[in-house]
Amino acid sequence: MSTAMLDTSAAETSANRAAAHAYLERLSARPLGHFIDGAATDGAVNDGAGGEAFEITDPTTGAVLGQGIGGTEADIDAAAKAAKRAFPGWAATSGADRRELLHAVADAIVARAEEIALVESLDCGQPIRFMSKAALRGAENFRFFADRAPGAQDGLALPSPAHINYTMRQPIGPVGVITPWNTPFMLATWKIAPALASGCTVVHKPAEWSPYSARLLIEIANEAGLPPGVFNAVNGLGEVAGRALTEHPDIKAVAFVGDTKTGRAIMRQGSETLKRVHFELGGKNPVVVFDDADLDRALDAVVFMIFSLNGQRCTSSSRLLVQESIAEDFTARVVERAKRLKVGDPLEKETEVGPLIHTRHREKVMSYMDVAREGGAQIACGGDAEGLSPDGYFVRPTVFTRARQDMRIAREEIFGPVLTVIPFADEADAIQKANDVDYGLAGYLWTGDAGRAHRVAQAMEAGMIWVNSENVRHLPTPFGGMKQSGVGRDGGDYSFDFYMETKNVAVALGPHRVPKLGAS
Ligand code: NAD
Repeated sequence: MSTAMLDTSAAETSANRAAAHAYLERLSARPLGHFIDGAATDGAVNDGAGGEAFEITDPTTGAVLGQGIGGTEADIDAAAKAAKRAFPGWAATSGADRRELLHAVADAIVARAEEIALVESLDCGQPIRFMSKAALRGAENFRFFADRAPGAQDGLALPSPAHINYTMRQPIGPVGVITPWNTPFMLATWKIAPALASGCTVVHKPAEWSPYSARLLIEIANEAGLPPGVFNAVNGLGEVAGRALTEHPDIKAVAFVGDTKTGRAIMRQGSETLKRVHFELGGKNPVVVFDDADLDRALDAVVFMIFSLNGQRCTSSSRLLVQESIAEDFTARVVERAKRLKVGDPLEKETEVGPLIHTRHREKVMSYMDVAREGGAQIACGGDAEGLSPDGYFVRPTVFTRARQDMRIAREEIFGPVLTVIPFADEADAIQKANDVDYGLAGYLWTGDAGRAHRVAQAMEAGMIWVNSENVRHLPTPFGGMKQSGVGRDGGDYSFDFYMETKNVAVALGPHRVPKLGAS
């Protein structure tokens, strides 16, 4: 690269950073609080009863970006009550009016896409090349569910000889949405848009490590005209604000995206009030590459699906299962590509891999380097942060080879730019290895044999399988996991099934015989 190009790129990056900080200034000038009943509020902290405040850091530099106010049980209660008050009006709003409002939210997201992308990139370290698309995908999520709002209540006609039965769907009530930090804006829209489209009101608890874009979303939605109380947000720690949300009696369902362990805790917490739960949890997703595949395309997909989004992606293909006949050569090509990935400032437009979200998460990811060594695997590349800024939470793209299926690096979700490679002998061995984990979110498979593609896809234990493809999301299709990766499905009508109750109405067609008790 010429010096002139470097200069241009460095200038653009610092311009991006300056713009991101300028956008953030308004949000970070004072501790970030909540948004309840149509207005920003510091909540219970004003009464001297705040929960633990939390620090929001820049993953690239380690610098403090701002403080968050820890929401308490009282804050969750205020938000849940606002959502409960707003529910009858919102549920009664016609589908056509809801469609219009949600399109207005989408328009406003598009209008502020640059701000969202820059704030997101600064706050969570995801490269700007991906975040600019994530902001627009958030708008698409709103448009997709907006268009389905008018039909959300539609049901079936199920006639019997004496009755006409018909079903209808009705919104379940105020719901809680709890989201993680990996792609916070996109994920929040993905959960909140269908809830609003179905007529539910929402209390959102964003992740404490990356809360800023969630504040932008709720501001945008309220400015676009959502009535007060329809969409509320409480910041804070999972154990306090998150827990209170899952235990609140006015909250009828909890849509959760996050770690499998947290999903288990939420199931326990919600049991007393019999919460309906929807879980999108962790994964240890295999990508199976057969020797008859288009190996150039497979290589691109393997590298993309583990190293994009800094490896902090629930559907990342973190296990490469590669046929023995091509294993050495193919793995060498993966390692070569991993070494050449551009790691650095997420606000630099050429950057492919940015820093991990938080120093604690980096420690977790780095601990697997020792786990790999101690288990006898080899670190073919990466494994450290050599040459990268020591202040940021960087990990160089890492490939583990000489791994076996019984090793922790082959079974546990690492959630970083770390790939474990395991060779397989034949189709049966590939299926056995693909399924030999507790998770079952996604599976990827590459082969030139159509019959094999279907056989293996049907045998893989995962909620979503992509054949000869990286993860390409189509919004009407079901999204979700089997086994320890989740409960329930999102997308299209599946989302409405979660956020709505199905009611059956049976109407007698004539004077059928009604049993006469106590009449003789
Ligand atoms: P996490 O479970 O630690 O946190 C997620 C959210 O849950 C945060 O808002 C947190 O504050 C809250 N929380 C924590 N404890 C809680 C409790 N006891 N009660 C209620 N809420 C609580 O997850 P994370 O580390 O933020 O995110 C990474 C995880 O998310 C990974 O496992 C990843 O695979 C998963 N994920 C899954 C999907 C999917 O679609 N399956 C998508 C993205 C991320």
